[in-house]
Amino acid sequence: MDPHRDALSTAASLPLATLSNRLAGDLVTPDDGEYAGARRVWNGMVNEYPAAIAYCKRVDDVTAAIAFARDHGLAVAVRSGGHSVAGASVVSGGLVVDCSGLEWVRVDPEDRIARVGAGADWGLVDRATQSFGLATPGGVVSDTGVAGLTLGGGTGYLSPKHGFAADNLRAIDVVTGRGERLTATPDRNEDLLWAARGGGTVGVVTAFEFDLHPLDHDVLYAESWLPADRAAEVLREYRRYQEAAPDEACVFPSFARVPPTPEFPDTRHGDPAVVVAGVYAGEPAAGRDEFEWFVGGADTFRTSVDAMPYVDLQSMLDADFPDGRRYYWKAVPLAELRDDAIRELRRATERAPSDLSTIVLWPMHGAVGRAGDDAGPIVGRDASVVVNVEAAWDDPTATAANVEWVRETCRAVEGDASLPGTLPNFAGGTDPDADDVYADRAARLREVRERYDPDGIFTYERG
Ligand SMILES: Cc1cc2nc3c(=O)[nH]c(=O)nc-3n(C[C@H](O)[C@H](O)[C@H](O)COP(=O)(O)OP(=O)(O)OC[C@H]3O[C@@H](n4cnc5c(N)ncnc54)[C@H](O)[C@@H]3O)c2cc1C
Repeated sequence: MDPHRDALSTAASLPLATLSNRLAGDLVTPDDGEYAGARRVWNGMVNEYPAAIAYCKRVDDVTAAIAFARDHGLAVAVRSGGHSVAGASVVSGGLVVDCSGLEWVRVDPEDRIARVGAGADWGLVDRATQSFGLATPGGVVSDTGVAGLTLGGGTGYLSPKHGFAADNLRAIDVVTGRGERLTATPDRNEDLLWAARGGGTVGVVTAFEFDLHPLDHDVLYAESWLPADRAAEVLREYRRYQEAAPDEACVFPSFARVPPTPEFPDTRHGDPAVVVAGVYAGEPAAGRDEFEWFVGGADTFRTSVDAMPYVDLQSMLDADFPDGRRYYWKAVPLAELRDDAIRELRRATERAPSDLSTIVLWPMHGAVGRAGDDAGPIVGRDASVVVNVEAAWDDPTATAANVEWVRETCRAVEGDASLPGTLPNFAGGTDPDADDVYADRAARLREVRERYDPDGIFTYERG
């Protein structure tokens, strides 16, 4: 089986010139020179061969693409920022509706609202909103797409204070699987808005409207690196801290190997480490007191405490996640961070086949936990932490070992403290379905999907 040849023959059987003539943007097909780059996404492990990729510059392009897919029975994958870890935004033999050309942001500082085109990334939104001293919770890497991140929930440094990105979503403009253009608000097509708040693709969302919050000062970032054998002690302290952590504080411990860079002592390079890092979204001076418990303690071999503009914080990790590397992520929500889970996480770090892999613990306190049951399809808001196991590697022959490491690590921490479902953005795995991700809200989500996409043209959860 040759997937490129299959894509070529599917494309040859379709009247693609009809679609191309209706688009303001380009249509890339398997015999075009641009195809090799156009079918690629952030995760270098994803290797799909679509029959065509429609670059949409205006909403009419999206409606034309959906109409074409419906007429010809093509599966549709929607792509905006291209950062789906599982590669869900490309589909072999189908049509990719690429929204990256819908890249715009409009801020209304009076009403504290941002309207955002589906092609914007978080860097664009943060720069636009910060120029008015405002912000909305986004992800922690600036070139991740607003569209996919919000439709999958969206945790970030401001989430304890203001909830998931999806919790701040007030309205969306959508082209549904039936091909119609709709707006969904809390009063109109409200089932569609409910589903979009974490339920993934509910049609092609062409524009998002977010609530904004004041953030007109620097934020504080602090980080301390310790040898992994201190993990039990440090994470027990973290557990105590989280019981009463303020909404301003997002403390997210992680496990990693010490990078071989000059900021770290040579003697530590390559060693397994536990890192306690935190962002304080209130006044930086208060943050310094708040984070005193983990900054510069015994055995810390690197520590930093810096006040910085929010936009700088939001791009601080960008270089750690380069395009084209191989990645496999999976997450487990834990009701409690127990000693046995800490032990397993340390063991997993020591056994990781790649030095580039990390395990991050995202806190779920504050506004995330307070959002009511009706906030959207995401479950697990009562978790104390979500453990995200993030494998990253370059060697193509190391794929099986890295994938197995992630699965094994998840199984090892999934004791009786693990909760049903997971964060959609970190669902990973092979062929997760709605039940794996949305647990007891999956049925309601499926009903909405079937109402607006009765022929099932969109790709939903998959590995
Ligand atoms: C480096 C990196 C950092 C990350 N950091 C965070 C983080 O801090 N917090 C967090 O919660 N998640 C994070 N994630 C996960 C991220 O939120 C998801 O991978 C997200 O889906 C990416 O969105 P995208 O638009 O870039 O991706 P895409 O690959 O374009 O799309 C992702 C999914 O959304 C669907 N989709 C995209 N656009 C549309 C649209 N316009 N209408 C309907 N459906 C659409 C796609 O079909 C696909 O299923 C990160 C991922 C990466 C790779």
